[in-house]
Amino acid sequence: MSETLILFDIDGTLIRTHGAGVSGFVEAGIRVFGEDFSLDDMPLGGQLDPLILERALGRLGMVPDDVNLRAFRHHYHECLERLFKSGNHESIAMPGVHELISQLESHAHFDLGLLTGNLAETGELKLTAAGIEIERFCIHAWGDDGESRDHLPPIALERWLEHRGIDRDFEHTVIIGDTIHDVQCAKANGCRVLAVCTGADDRGMLEKAGADRVVDDLSDTSDIMNWLLKS
Ligand SMILES: [Mg+2]
Repeated sequence: MSETLILFDIDGTLIRTHGAGVSGFVEAGIRVFGEDFSLDDMPLGGQLDPLILERALGRLGMVPDDVNLRAFRHHYHECLERLFKSGNHESIAMPGVHELISQLESHAHFDLGLLTGNLAETGELKLTAAGIEIERFCIHAWGDDGESRDHLPPIALERWLEHRGIDRDFEHTVIIGDTIHDVQCAKANGCRVLAVCTGADDRGMLEKAGADRVVDDLSDTSDIMNWLLKS
């Protein structure tokens, strides 16, 4: 039985999309909410997609509802898929990611999951475009599963119990992410956290936020495996 659940963030941690994520989001927003829709000057790293949308609409004096949210999600997926197919935008795995996932999968000690601000369908699309199959992660906590990122770790643990029958506490959970928000949501729940400097926030910010370990990237897989097994 697995002893530790590893929860990966997506953007800036497992992959980068070279602007496709933001471009697709904005294009979908313009299609559904009008040409004034924009994400300019908004913090995006480590944020939940539904909250980004809510804030962007708030600036326009609008609110999301079930109908326009469904339309937005449809268009966001369509735009993102087209951007990846166009060849102008690429989703690529960060250094060491394929190797680390393979090593974790081959080790009975670990179960793999996702804890991300992405919505399910676009999160999966970004991973698939980078050659990372969604099936490799047995637990998912998506951006619309909670009101804030801090609410997502308990949902991941509930799903670990529900889907794998494993009933463990937050000490048996490690979050791997690239922003202070990943670190904060881990600390708020008593999870351990490995921060990686391949995304929005630098080493100093990640250390100050309280990351248990900070690495430049995930390429030193044996060192990271040792840390995950020991910690
Ligand atoms: Mg991220």
